[in-house]
Amino acid sequence: GAPALTVRGLSVDFATDHGLVRAVRSVDLDVAPGELVALLGESGSGKSVTARSVLGLAGAGAEVSADVLEVGGTPVLGLSPDGLRRIRGERVGLVMQDALSALNPVLTVGEQIAEILRVHRGVGRRAATARATELLALVGIPAPARRVRDHPHQFSGGMRQRILIAMAIALEPELLIADEPTTALDVTVQAQVLELLDDLRHRLGMAVLLITHDLGVVMETSDRVAVMYAGRVVETGPTTEVLSSPRHPYTEALLRSVPSRAGRDRLLTIPGSPPSPTAVPPGCSFHPRCRLAVEHCREARPDLLTVLPGQAAACHRSDELVEEVRDVVTVG
Ligand code: SF4
Ligand code: MG
Repeated sequence: GAPALTVRGLSVDFATDHGLVRAVRSVDLDVAPGELVALLGESGSGKSVTARSVLGLAGAGAEVSADVLEVGGTPVLGLSPDGLRRIRGERVGLVMQDALSALNPVLTVGEQIAEILRVHRGVGRRAATARATELLALVGIPAPARRVRDHPHQFSGGMRQRILIAMAIALEPELLIADEPTTALDVTVQAQVLELLDDLRHRLGMAVLLITHDLGVVMETSDRVAVMYAGRVVETGPTTEVLSSPRHPYTEALLRSVPSRAGRDRLLTIPGSPPSPTAVPPGCSFHPRCRLAVEHCREARPDLLTVLPGQAAACHRSDELVEEVRDVVTVG
């Protein structure tokens, strides 16, 4: 079948008081049916804006352009608000970080799930409640027949995140976009929610685009990864290959910044900070932070080029990096 998501040449600008903010530049992205792709980057790298553009949710004042923006072969760019509402939920589910603010505190979780089924599918009240109970079971809520009548505040943070996932998959979308779905949770619960996402995409054949700043999350779950920096994809490929043999110094720096795979706190910290979207450096935008930067990097922006089958990097010195990593491994 058609890819779950096809993005070609996506750019997103915001007109602000401080001038034009170029949030996303020339992004290409593919997610195959049933595939779990991670979009990795620091805050402000453009990863959320990229994913939300698919749903027409890039934000107020966003100017979105793309050569191709398709969900399951259906173009979604320029759809009417009505058309977008149909895509949302039915074709693409969205799970966000903050479950508490995404849920309605005065309705039971069963009522909230049933509402989706009634509005989109015209399902009757009793059938909708029965299906809501099934969905709670599917996402691992214990005693679903009883808990379907509980309100959001009666659940733990992890359980609330499961309920959001149940709502997002209620209409059996072909693509689930999960934007930092576990960031607010403690590590053990994080792992359980990620396991659930992985399990669901296998059972339902649903593709997942997982947005995260956490390299550990990428390692644990994704088939492929796209690393974003300053609004662009700087490296992409199969997760195992990219993480074992990074071909972009930014990816490599992210890997070096992981304290240990078992470490509790896996927040990314590398020297310097990402550029403001209003002041992206010329040439390679990573050059002020790059240990391999040379004069040429300050002038010419590197294209995203294939370095191995399925793996691409946007770096003038990609080849030297791979030799160095080999040396480090040999010496160490
Ligand atoms: Fe570093 Fe130059 Fe490669 Fe950019 S192009 S990542 S500055 S070596
Ligand atoms: Mg974000």
